[in-house]
Parts: sequence; structure tokens; C-alpha cells
Amino acid sequence: VLIWSFLSAFIFALFFAFYIARQSMKPVIRAWQQQQDFVNNAAHELRTPMTVIQGKLENLLTRPTSTIREESDAVILSLSEIRRLNSLTNNMLTLAKTGSNMTKVEKEKTDVKSFLGSALSPYIEMGEISGKDVTVDVNVDKKVSIDRKRIHQLLVLLMDNALKYSEEGDKINVSASVNKKWLQIEVADTGRGISDEAKKHIFDRFYREDKTGNRKTGGTGLGLSIAEWIVSAHNGKISVSDNHPKGTIFKVSLPI
Ligand code: ADP
Repeated sequence: VLIWSFLSAFIFALFFAFYIARQSMKPVIRAWQQQQDFVNNAAHELRTPMTVIQGKLENLLTRPTSTIREESDAVILSLSEIRRLNSLTNNMLTLAKTGSNMTKVEKEKTDVKSFLGSALSPYIEMGEISGKDVTVDVNVDKKVSIDRKRIHQLLVLLMDNALKYSEEGDKINVSASVNKKWLQIEVADTGRGISDEAKKHIFDRFYREDKTGNRKTGGTGLGLSIAEWIVSAHNGKISVSDNHPKGTIFKVSLPI
């Protein structure tokens, strides 16, 4: 009986140890899997523009006597693909740093009104140039602790998207307000909107609603993942909803 008891206790302990080891490995396996997915997606995303550029350059070599003007289509396309590669690698570096906790959030008391004013003024000009009406309503007279560099980056990501996914004649409005606990910033556009299915995935890395359409807009599918990281590093929240009658609203809440 004693031997039996020892044996069954030993077997039980063995299974228990195996179970604990498996459970504790789960986050490691998940992180490794995410890393693998990231590298696979990144390689795929980098390969596409490189293939386009390679094809265009090889074509140009077959016509060595033509002028740049004659070949301007190929040159313009190659340049736009190079710009895409540039923003893709910049975004990937940012995400790699956030993943490894190398990026620290450095908050400073900030006058929200003047901060938003200067961050958004280039967009009022860009709106004028592209025929979109960009307006800013800031109802905040408090100073709030934020990482200015990161929140500026967040505004750039949301505003670039609002401009990218809207047409001439559309409106983009940024509003900001505070209540007891939160600084709330809303970016609302009357652009093409986001389907309910896509709303579930837009914060995922490399997700783009319409891959072919987005090649024209130069999207990388990484912007909103970075936006989400910036907001969560501030212990805040970001959400997306429909604007009426059309378009999208991104709401960001940052604790004050
Ligand atoms: P991208 O670089 O492709 O814009 P993001 O991560 O910034 O990547 O956005 C992911 C996807 O969410 C976009 O490809 C687009 O389909 C959708 N999206 C983001 N912002 C808007 C917006 N303001 N209006 C419509 N669609 C948007």
C-alpha cells in the first residue's frame, strides 16, 4: 500500500509539474507566435513595394535612351513606393520599440489649447490645399500631463487617416473637452467610413480594410496599432464609431 501511495503521489506530482510548466510557457509561446506573425507580415509588406520598384527599374534599363519625362510614370510610381517603404520601416521601428518596452512615456504638464493649436495648424492648411474643411474646437482651459511627443504622433496618425480616407468637400473636425477625470479628444470626418466588420480589426497590426485602395493612399496598416499603444501607455482609451450621415469618429480619452 505504501509503495502504491508513493507511486501515485509521484505520478500525480509529475503530471502537476508538467501542467504548471505548460501553463507558464503559454505566454512565451504566444509572444513567440506574435513575433513570427509580425516578421511574416512585415516581410510580405516590404516585398510588395520592392517588387514594384525592381520591375519598373528593370523596364527602364531596356529603354536606355528615353528621357525622364518620357518615363515619368515609372519614376513617380517608384518614388511613391519608396515613400511607402520609408513610412513602413519607420512604423515598424516604432512598434518594435513599444513591444520591447524601450519607449518610455515622459509626461509634462501641457496647456492643451496651445498644444492642440500648434499640432493641428498644418492640417488646417493641408485641408485648404486638398479642398477639405478642417476645423478645431478646443474647450479646455486646464493643463494636463501628457507625453507631448507621443500625443502629437497620435494626432498625426488620426489626422493623416482622416485626410487619406476622405474626399474633396468632406469635413474633418477635431474637438477637445475635459471632465473631472478625462481629457477627451475626438477626430470626426465625413469620409468613406469603416464597415462594422473592419472596425473589429483596424487596431490590429498590418490590417487594412481595402488592400488595393490603400495602396493608392499609401497606408501601411500600422498607424492605428501605434495609436492604440500611445493611448494605452497613457492609461487611456481609444474607440471608433460611425459619424452621421457618413464618416468616422475616433474618440480618445486620457486620464487627467
Ligand atoms: P493605414 O496605414 O492603412 O491607414 P491604419 O492602422 O492607420 O493603417 O488604419 C487601418 C485601417 O483602418 C485603414 O487601412 C483603413 O481601412 C481604416 N481607417 C483608419 N482610419 C480611417 C478613417 N478615418 N476613415 C476610414 N477608414 C479608416
